[in-house]
Amino acid sequence: MQQKITPSPLSATESANLRTDQQSYPLRVPSHWRQRIDWQNSQDPLLRQIQPTPEEWQPVAGFSEDPLAEEQAQPLPGLLHKYAGRALLLLSHSCPIHCRYCFRRHSNESKPTTSAHNWQAAVEWIKQEKTIREIIYSGGDPLMLPDRQLQQLTRQLAEIPHLQRLRVHSRMPVVTPKRIGHDLLQWLTGSRLTPVLVIHCNHPQELDSLVLQALHKLQQAGVLLLNQSVLLKGINDSVEVLAALCETLIHQRILPYYLHQLDPVAGAAHFRVDNAKAAHLWLQLQSRLPGYALPRLVWEQPGYPSKRLLELPDDAHQDSLICS
Ligand code: SF4
Repeated sequence: MQQKITPSPLSATESANLRTDQQSYPLRVPSHWRQRIDWQNSQDPLLRQIQPTPEEWQPVAGFSEDPLAEEQAQPLPGLLHKYAGRALLLLSHSCPIHCRYCFRRHSNESKPTTSAHNWQAAVEWIKQEKTIREIIYSGGDPLMLPDRQLQQLTRQLAEIPHLQRLRVHSRMPVVTPKRIGHDLLQWLTGSRLTPVLVIHCNHPQELDSLVLQALHKLQQAGVLLLNQSVLLKGINDSVEVLAALCETLIHQRILPYYLHQLDPVAGAAHFRVDNAKAAHLWLQLQSRLPGYALPRLVWEQPGYPSKRLLELPDDAHQDSLICS
């Protein structure tokens, strides 16, 4: 049975604004995610990730629709080249879930993707760029595309001699684990490219038994699994939650490689954790976890040749020693 989200009472203006926002970025929740929400708890971390709130349409200085200036980093529509050795294909603008903090939440069908209809130009570009070693399937969620199309594209890419790895960024194993089936495993692991999948999990409650089964299928097929999380106020901004997440991931042989500061996308400012608190949390995490289980605390700034490590305040280490 579909659960209804009951918003708090709103003024007429707030309701109108929320309706407008709902049209451009509506609530979307797949059934497996919905079933795991504790509907009696307004602070449930799965609920908070998907629930539209009036705070989303309040303009906040420094938060914009394209916070990473990605439109300027596209040599071709739907092809991003930000970092040396890697190129990213935006294969779909749609997702099985609408995460309210998503930095691409303002992408929509009017913007270009590297779809089945126009990926030939992207493949030709990659052939010419001999420094590219790794192709990243991204979106939206690239696994929204049918396996047949993903197989065709992967076959073409595998014929390019300088490519070595295929990396897929997808929330699908966590939000809709039944998507991880035989056909997907075939194209992902059936070429000469080393397969890597980044699962984007933010809270240990996301990892239930069906999700773990899907992840184990991927591992058994030879896929290297990594996780990157976004640091989200009211969802995972506590050392207990982050430590539990990293411990669970490592126990399942998934490397928690990045903890991201939120990208300043319009509509998500209420999820922002300030840099001082982020640094303090990370230092506490460092004191609890073995080095290999500790994600790097990073943020992204347009125009830089890589993600940037968040600078730790001079007194942060001292604070963490006192508090941990
Ligand atoms: S699944 Fe990823 S791309 Fe899709 S809405 Fe969530 S964060 Fe954004």
